[in-house]
Amino acid sequence: MDKINLENYKGIIFDLDGIIYDITDAITKAVDDGIEKYQLKVNRDAVMEEIAHLIEEIQNYPVPKILLNSYELLKINSLEGLSFFKKLRIAIFLFNQFNKYREEATIFDGIDDLISKLSKSLKLAILTNNKSQYAEEVLEKFNLTRYFGTIIGFNEVTEVKPSPEGILKILEKWKIKPSEAIFIGDMTTDIEAGKTANVKMVCVASGLAQKETLKEHNPDFLVDDTAELKQLFNL
Ligand SMILES: [Mg+2]
Repeated sequence: MDKINLENYKGIIFDLDGIIYDITDAITKAVDDGIEKYQLKVNRDAVMEEIAHLIEEIQNYPVPKILLNSYELLKINSLEGLSFFKKLRIAIFLFNQFNKYREEATIFDGIDDLISKLSKSLKLAILTNNKSQYAEEVLEKFNLTRYFGTIIGFNEVTEVKPSPEGILKILEKWKIKPSEAIFIGDMTTDIEAGKTANVKMVCVASGLAQKETLKEHNPDFLVDDTAELKQLFNL
């Protein structure tokens, strides 16, 4: 496996959900509940990926915007053929189940140790498509606040990922070049953002997006989990 020499870098930007905070179980359970309740004949993995994107997207919209965009938002391939209202009922059910299960969500095994080690020689930031307040709450809950001097949520940018805006904003604050930064994310939108910003893009296939799909988007590095991420950094 290729390694990353951390001496060549000054800062690392972390996505939150799927990299630090493990919401995989919450989404899996919500999707399984939905498949059972609505007797859906679907490919579970494909639904998971689409629902994960949908949940990430609508979390940062105010309700009127969700309503106005609901037709576009519910263009979910896995639910093709169902009426708009049926899709809406399923989406609301999935979202409620997800929020219920998320109460039990925790951080990935070993990610706190990795963050602590990286923080000794590098600046660390969070870039999430969620609210920055949500990131602050998660970091606080798991005693990680002290490691992250910068947190950028959707409320601090005009365009969320896949736009590179958030990454560029952090680089500007740090006064470092794209080539001196690493971005770690778990979705195709993260890969697009990282590549457009010209930073080193590390993707973790934590389970929400399928590894094959991620590979097609050509991240600089693609690892399976936190343990492999540690190896990648030689930590
Ligand atoms: Mg994520």
